Amino acid sequence: MSATLSREDAARRAEELRREIAINDELYYVKDSPLIEDHEYDGLLRELEAIEDAFPDLAGPDSPTRRVRGAPRSEFSKVVHEEPMLSLDNALDMDELDSFLERAGRAILAEGWSELGAEWVCEPKIDGLAVSLIYEDGVFQRASTRGDGTVGEDVTNNVRTIRSLPLRLARMKNGVVEVRGEVCMAREDFAELNRLREEAEEPLFANPRNAAAGSLRQLDHKVTASRKLRIYLYHVRNARDLGIKNQSGLLEWLGEEGLPTHGHDRLCSCRDDITRYLGEWGSERFSNSVNTDGVVLKLNDLALRERLGNTSKAPRWAIAFKFPPEEKRTRVLDIEISVGRTGALTPTANLEPISLSGTTVRRASLHNQDEINRKDIRVGDFVWVHKAGEIIPEVIRVDESARTGSETPFVIPPVCPVCGAEAVHLPTEAAIRCPNRSCPAQLQEGILHFVSRNCMDINGIGEKLARQLIDKKLVQNVADLYDLKAEDLAGLDRMGDKSAAKLIEAIAASKSRPLPMLINALGIRNTGKKTASDIAGRFRDIDSLIAASEDELAAMDGVGPVIAASIRSFLADERNVSVIDRLRKAGVNMSSGDADTGPQIQSGALAGKRIVFTGELSSMPRAEAEHLAESLGARTSGGVSKKTDLLVAGDNPGGKYSKALGLGIEIWDEAAFLRVAAPEKDKGRNEI
Ligand code: NAD
Repeated sequence: MSATLSREDAARRAEELRREIAINDELYYVKDSPLIEDHEYDGLLRELEAIEDAFPDLAGPDSPTRRVRGAPRSEFSKVVHEEPMLSLDNALDMDELDSFLERAGRAILAEGWSELGAEWVCEPKIDGLAVSLIYEDGVFQRASTRGDGTVGEDVTNNVRTIRSLPLRLARMKNGVVEVRGEVCMAREDFAELNRLREEAEEPLFANPRNAAAGSLRQLDHKVTASRKLRIYLYHVRNARDLGIKNQSGLLEWLGEEGLPTHGHDRLCSCRDDITRYLGEWGSERFSNSVNTDGVVLKLNDLALRERLGNTSKAPRWAIAFKFPPEEKRTRVLDIEISVGRTGALTPTANLEPISLSGTTVRRASLHNQDEINRKDIRVGDFVWVHKAGEIIPEVIRVDESARTGSETPFVIPPVCPVCGAEAVHLPTEAAIRCPNRSCPAQLQEGILHFVSRNCMDINGIGEKLARQLIDKKLVQNVADLYDLKAEDLAGLDRMGDKSAAKLIEAIAASKSRPLPMLINALGIRNTGKKTASDIAGRFRDIDSLIAASEDELAAMDGVGPVIAASIRSFLADERNVSVIDRLRKAGVNMSSGDADTGPQIQSGALAGKRIVFTGELSSMPRAEAEHLAESLGARTSGGVSKKTDLLVAGDNPGGKYSKALGLGIEIWDEAAFLRVAAPEKDKGRNEI
């Protein structure tokens, strides 16, 4: 297009593009809150590049096409990088990748090397933010962000909170080494963080990359510690001085020093190997918990890399192949309002079903009225949908060209659709709320949360039964569950004597759930399973928690000021304290035998192990077994990977079992787990 522009028009358009790029750079790199999608942004940059190619005199040295973008935030101390942290050139399709390989091939030949002998390492392009770490005499000293490539932000204390990062190298004891890599957030942690932020009326992060950047660039490192960040290293500066010859050796060196690497890299010796890898990783990446938005292709030989050198913006020996975004067009059939646990009225679009990144999508949350207005979403509109962070369906934009005039604008009604109470819209909040604490919808959500698997794990209460319990006034808050008798239930729909007796038994059994499950069940805003577990580990019983000051709470790792304030305001409300009192009178466990179990427990057989549970356990619910393992120093996760140390399999195990077998991971049955875990747990109790 630029070829057809006059010089004057090209100059005007280039100016517009630079302005637009600068605005989006500020939102993305400084505010961690982009307004447009990455590929739209890439489109702006590509257009500017095309204009500058056609009219080279329009490209000044500070054009965004020629320099690393981003800027250090003024609130952070600055770090000057000894060697610039560069960006990467991009290839958006195979033609662009081929041009790069050809270009690199010519440069390699010019260096007197055989192009055919050149090997490439393909690595997943982790969607996070680049950091540089310095280790001195084997000890972690400093971490900084890329910033503008020359000057970054000092984020040492924040990076120190990332649990998978070793603060000492395993082997290197002398000298200084700089390693570089990516800080990122797993999809499920991003989804949980956004869920809590939505509940707390805080702005949502657009994707895991921005969530990771926003979490790392915090002035209070306790906030960073409360976010589950991960780090993967992929570069060692001056690696040749350490005797490392190539990228494969470099990745091995990182692993040997105990520094986490992403894995899934592959050495490729020809174009066919590379395209095979792109195809394989292109689909496998959806089952990896960390988002990868492409593949980075790096020349393997470090000496040859030095010869090829860099441009002002990117190395000549590497390129990022970017996967195309997955977005599809569908129609908004209607918009319905649901009432959440905290009374927020949330609009959800019912969509004509489409298949997207491996699942069928039928609904997408529209969050609040501001969001509907900003995107101008109307019932009947054709819209483009993607999965934010490859996990949560989201309407990106309306296809305005498809409008016929029959679409209907949507306004959230001013009354609660369930109890009819007049909804309130506080100026400080984005959500419109039902203020009625006895609203059946809020109560129902509260009960469903209370009985869910990671809370009191009471099997047998679903949406329909919860609604009946509320309608018949049998349950008006969660403590009423413990007063239920079999005869109360007998008259309810689809509830025979046997099921009623079973449910009463399940409710009674839940009284002995560990403290973390109870704290999670209370439904304190911003407090999920992980925070509940941290709090229970610090305070031995609910009374100590009730007595804790906001400062004490905020000082905890994994809590921070926002969560601390939520906990305090929940416990300051007499109605909540009275529910807790009634739970106590009903015999619900209020203390933790495994709080602060100390080093003896940490040194047990499960300490430090990554454990996955699968199948049905007969001695306790799975969530309780997870808590037990965690209280003994293990880490639990939902999926089997190469990093899993142990799979505990109950009855009817699923796909995780065969995956663990395939990977040669140790597998225990429930009895073997109990033989180790139960005595250690008792030992812990005695030692308190
Ligand atoms: P980039 O993200 O395209 O690639 C360079 C980065 O890749 C490196 O700095 C490094 O951090 C990372 N990386 C991940 N895995 C790696 C690996 N295995 N080896 C080496 N590096 C690896 O470049 P960029 O300059 O960081 O960002 C530009 C991109 O950011 C744009 O292409 C755009 O998609 C996005 N962006 C979006 C907006 C927006 O408004 N949506 C604004 C600005 C930038």
